[in-house]
Amino acid sequence: MTDKILREIGEFGIIDRIRRWTGSSDPALLQGIGDDVAVIEMRRKVLLATTDILIEDIHFKRSWSDPYRLGRKAIAVNLSDIAAMGGVPKYFLISLGLPKNLSLSFVTSFYRGLKDGSRRFGVDLVGGDTSLSPRIIINICLLGEGTKGGLLFRKGARVGDDLFVSGTLGDAALGLRMLEKGGAKGDASRLIEKHLSPRPRIELGQAIAGHRLATAMIDVSDGLLIDTTHLLKESKVGARIREEQLPLSRPYRKWIRSYSKDLYEIALAGGEDYELLFTAPPEKRKEILTLSHSLRIPITRIGEIVHRKKGLRIVQRDGREYSPDRLGFEHFK
Ligand code: ADP
Ligand code: MG
Repeated sequence: MTDKILREIGEFGIIDRIRRWTGSSDPALLQGIGDDVAVIEMRRKVLLATTDILIEDIHFKRSWSDPYRLGRKAIAVNLSDIAAMGGVPKYFLISLGLPKNLSLSFVTSFYRGLKDGSRRFGVDLVGGDTSLSPRIIINICLLGEGTKGGLLFRKGARVGDDLFVSGTLGDAALGLRMLEKGGAKGDASRLIEKHLSPRPRIELGQAIAGHRLATAMIDVSDGLLIDTTHLLKESKVGARIREEQLPLSRPYRKWIRSYSKDLYEIALAGGEDYELLFTAPPEKRKEILTLSHSLRIPITRIGEIVHRKKGLRIVQRDGREYSPDRLGFEHFK
C-alpha cells in the first residue's frame, strides 16, 4: 500500500483514523474521542493535571529519532510529572500541529508509540486537536488522580533529610551531545537511547508516596541542579550534594571524557534524565533500600538537606565546596 500525505487526507480524515486506533474499556470514560469534550466520571479523588509541549527543532529533530520513539517520549515526559507526585496517570489529550507534506505513516507510527507508552500504565487517549503547522508541534495534557493525603509535593523537605535520586544521571544529556556531533558507535548508543526513550518512574513514584517514604519529591527533567533548586525553593531549605556519590552509568563514565573535561558537569547540569529526586529523614534509609531492591531501580543518596542560608553547595571529592553558577537548561536564556 502506498503511503499518503496529510494534504490528501485532511483534518477529519486524520481524526477518523486516530479514532479507529484508540479505544478504552474504562467504565468511568463516559465519552472519549468523537464529541465536543471527553466526559469522565469522578469519584472521591483529587484530579492531577499536567501539560508539556514538544516543538520540532527546539525539542527534537526529525532526523535524530523516528515517529514511534517520538510518540513514546511525548507521553513519557508527561507521565514523569505524575510520577513525581506519586499519582496515578489516567487520561490524556493531545494537540498536534502537523505540516501538510507529512506522511500518514509518520502519524500512524507516532500514535503507535503513544499507545505503547501509555497503555502499559493504563492510560487512555480521550481527545485532542489537529491543526496545520509549518513544523511539528506536540502538546499533551495528561490527567491523573491521587488522594488528598497521598501526594508528594516539592515543598516538605526538612533540614537533616537525606537527598536521593533514582537511576543514573547525565546519560540522556550526553546522548544528546553525541547526536549533535553526528551519532555514536558501540555502547554509546545506550546513551542516545536514554535521550530518545526515557522511562517514566511511575511505579517508583507511587511506591515512595504510598509508603510515605519521602518528605518532598520532583522529577529531574531540566537537570539535577535546576530541579534541586526548585525543590529547595519550595521547601525553603538548602542542600549539599556530594559529587562522588552521583550515580553515573558505565557508558557515561567511558564516553564523558570525549565531551567534557569535568566528569560531573553533564550529570549535574544536563537535562532529560526523568529520574525522581526526593528527600527523606535518615530513619527511612532501610525501607528505601528495600524498595530499590524490590523494584530493581537504583536509588542513591547524593547529599543532604541543610539550612536555607547555606543555599545549594556541591562537595568535591577532596572535600572542598562550591556554589554552582551554571545550573542547567532554561528556555529564552
Ligand atoms: P472541535 O471542533 O470541537 O474541536 P474536532 O473536530 O477538533 O472537534 O475533534 C473531534 C474529536 O476528535 C474530539 O473528540 C477531539 O477531542 C478529537 N481529536 C481531534 N484531534 C485529535 C487528535 N490529534 N488526537 C486525538 N483526538 C483528537
Ligand atoms: Mg478541534
